[in-house]
Amino acid sequence: TAPVIAIDGPSASGKGTVAERVAAALGYHYLDSGSLYRLTALAAVRAGVALDDEVGVAELAAGLPASFVGGRILLSDDDVTDAIRTEEISAGASKVAALPTVRAALLARQRAYRRFPGLVADGRDMASVVFPDAAAKVFLTASAEARAERRYKQLIAKGMPANMHALLQDLQERDARDAQRSVAPLKQCDDAVLVDTTPLGIDEAVAAVMAIVKR
Ligand code: C5P
Repeated sequence: TAPVIAIDGPSASGKGTVAERVAAALGYHYLDSGSLYRLTALAAVRAGVALDDEVGVAELAAGLPASFVGGRILLSDDDVTDAIRTEEISAGASKVAALPTVRAALLARQRAYRRFPGLVADGRDMASVVFPDAAAKVFLTASAEARAERRYKQLIAKGMPANMHALLQDLQERDARDAQRSVAPLKQCDDAVLVDTTPLGIDEAVAAVMAIVKR
């Protein structure tokens, strides 16, 4: 079977950017598993399904009309690339991700991304649940302050309103919910290598992961 590089870590740790760059360097496919939880939350909000209605949300997750086209994310014919990144949907994603039936509904879809020549997958449970046989496992993290600051700079660069205190609080709430849930809680796998990007720039973080992949 095609090799998988699993990159897990908390929100805004830079794992998406790093995973995408590592995938490009290796010529592998890329799976942003968080986008599936975000799409599920958005689909629920739009359909008026409560985020704690486990059966209703799982049904939406199982039939998610999602497609990934040239860097854009579509729900049916609707470009939702930006709509799934709002603070509301970020919080919603972490709520639906705590529901076991929703996680189960998204499992086969994630595993289907494994194709030749290989896959780089980022998320929370890539190494532990979705691809336990991954060829390399990385736990990418950074201090909450560093992550909030990166998010702040991204928002400011896009000309969007941002509040450092609110961002840090949202991030810590989401980390706590992800770490405390009963299924697939966010934590470093025993066989994963820790990369703390707090003092690293993006190029250095990519190099650190490439060094792990190659050994
Ligand atoms: O990675 P990202 O921040 O886009 O993920 C959004 C939310 O989806 C996370 O806060 C987490 O609750 C959930 N998630 C998950 N398992 C994954 C990927 C994301 O539970 N593999």
